[in-house]
Amino acid sequence: MQFSVEKFSDTVAAISTPRAAGGISVIRISGENALSIADKIFRSVSGKKIPSQMEGYTCAYGKFMSASGEELDDGILTVFKAPHSYTGEDIAELSCHGGIYVTERVLRAVYDNGAIPAQAGEFTKRAFLNGKLTLTQAESVMDIISAQGKAFHRRAMNVRDGALFREISKCSSRLLTLLGEIGAWIDYPEDDIPEVDSNVMTDNLMGISAQLQNISHAYDNSRILREGIDTVIAGKPNVGKSTLMNLLAGCDKSIVTDIAGTTRDIVEESVRLGDVVLRLSDTAGLHETGDAVESVGIERARKKMQTADLIIAVFDNSTSLTDDDNELIEFCKNAQGVKAIACINKTDMDNKLDREIIINNFENVIEISAGNGEGINKLQSVIYSLFITESNNIYDDLAVNERQKQCLDRAIACINEAITAVHNGITLDAVNIILDDAENYLLELTGERTTEAVVNEVFSHFCVGK
Ligand code: GDP
Repeated sequence: MQFSVEKFSDTVAAISTPRAAGGISVIRISGENALSIADKIFRSVSGKKIPSQMEGYTCAYGKFMSASGEELDDGILTVFKAPHSYTGEDIAELSCHGGIYVTERVLRAVYDNGAIPAQAGEFTKRAFLNGKLTLTQAESVMDIISAQGKAFHRRAMNVRDGALFREISKCSSRLLTLLGEIGAWIDYPEDDIPEVDSNVMTDNLMGISAQLQNISHAYDNSRILREGIDTVIAGKPNVGKSTLMNLLAGCDKSIVTDIAGTTRDIVEESVRLGDVVLRLSDTAGLHETGDAVESVGIERARKKMQTADLIIAVFDNSTSLTDDDNELIEFCKNAQGVKAIACINKTDMDNKLDREIIINNFENVIEISAGNGEGINKLQSVIYSLFITESNNIYDDLAVNERQKQCLDRAIACINEAITAVHNGITLDAVNIILDDAENYLLELTGERTTEAVVNEVFSHFCVGK
């Protein structure tokens, strides 16, 4: 079902800058009455500029007034005229001084003159519903805002430029062509239309499926770049886990002592390491203990390690391997879907560690000295290359989110089901129905055919003012 575009009768407003003291705050008003509301609030210094009579993309300096005529602030008014604006509607943006009180007073004046509060993401939602952005482009706006590094920012910008929409559309139109051919053969049996060759159809479907899978894989990189790498720093007591964590975090978060077993519980910390964010847990070391509190921490550590994206297994260069080390080595070898890096720490001290065993059991081994910060750059580059695919392939350069991945995976499942159906000689009518579902999932992804619930869900994750 095509999602019907509602016509907005309300004029909405919100503060588009963060709710914190700063140089400038921007209050955005969008809708039919945006400029007439601005007329009531804004007094240009020259007295000549009336917002509703100004050209689009122009601005004026003046004063912002309350509904009762009190002068609240001076600042800049910028006018955008429909349809040439972010939302496709008339927009007035009031840039005032960035104090929380003054900004809220100006916003209050806007409400007092007839605007209503904008919901989370409402400006971008209006942009989507007014045809200014596709759904994937709208989603990329939040990704651009939340990007914490170059790699994710570039991926989000590619989606903003329409790359995801274009790639999906290519698959979707290939599918539509096929559906048309099958449909014609089903609907006009008397017209002598040749049946679609099953080999050609299978080849075609496999091609589309492969292309969609490539896009779906972009989700893995996107998830890591968007959410960070769930990382556990593991190792027996006293190997230097807390020291490493503090080095990464740049502050003393965990308690570092010489007494083995001091880190009893999981300490969470988000740190940016180059382009990626590590969500770090410095866990209690894996070892046998009679201490009840400590053993709860160890059990939690074990669970955390099973669900993490990455284990940084720390070994002490200055001691020989112990049972606890061997247990960690075994754990890392057997952990499913968890990547592991062995960090040989305390390389500033004399070597007593059997490095061969570490090297033979880990694909990634790096030497560090957490105490003086050596080896951190190497750790950073190994983590990056383990998680982030860099290539010239456009699929690797897209920010794909959870919703989009679900649509992709459902479409792929339908196409694969259709391939099996063709292979098993199932009637083209049935194949047609399955492929129709695949097409629907792709159109849901791009937002060309979607429901109000999906759209509301997408924009509910936005911030107010965007
Ligand atoms: P944890 O129990 O694994 O968290 O170990 P800690 O981080 O508390 O460190 C234990 C001891 O090792 C502390 O005295 C640290 O200062 C020391 N240490 C940590 N890293 C290094 C290092 O790279 N070189 C040296 N010489 N000492 C270190």
